[in-house]
Amino acid sequence: MAFTVAIVGRPNVGKSTFFNRLLEQRKAIVEDTPGVTRDRQYGIADWNGKNFYVIDTGGFVPDSEDVFETEIRKQVQVAVNEASAILFVVDAATGMTDLDDAMADVLRRSTKPVFLVVNKVDNNERLLEASEFYSLGFEKVFFISAISGSGTGDLLDEVTGLI
Ligand code: GDP
Ligand code: MG
Repeated sequence: MAFTVAIVGRPNVGKSTFFNRLLEQRKAIVEDTPGVTRDRQYGIADWNGKNFYVIDTGGFVPDSEDVFETEIRKQVQVAVNEASAILFVVDAATGMTDLDDAMADVLRRSTKPVFLVVNKVDNNERLLEASEFYSLGFEKVFFISAISGSGTGDLLDEVTGLI
């Protein structure tokens, strides 16, 4: 099976922004796969000649706490079942939340490699604040801005190093 990267994280952290950037910039093809549920999107990315599948999870954003938890669990399950590596995205603009903590607890037990991606690091002030995410205990931590693309090259170099 081809190398597959799943993007997970609570709503609004910037998963889809990063997903779209990956596909658009690398001229990748978004597959129109029949039977694929609407709560995730699949695409193919190309980084320095290395191709890999990307899954954007969490397209369905629920509004109640219960559904919220269910959705998060589902995302993690998708990631662990279908992915070769997981990009766990958090948001430096809002800072750490209980949901980030809850997801981190599950992902730390994953047998797949997990990259902690601290998004919305748009400036140096954000970068200082973003260091709080080291406390989640992941070895691979990347600070990016999905909007500007800063930091994404280092992340992709590391991820594709696994292929
Ligand atoms: P998702 O729910 O995790 O898929 O998040 P989205 O990709 O839909 O993004 C949620 C919001 O965060 C949108 O308004 C994005 O424009 C914004 N966003 C995404 N990436 C960045 C970033 O790097 N910096 C800033 N400032 N905002 C971002
Ligand atoms: Mg999204």
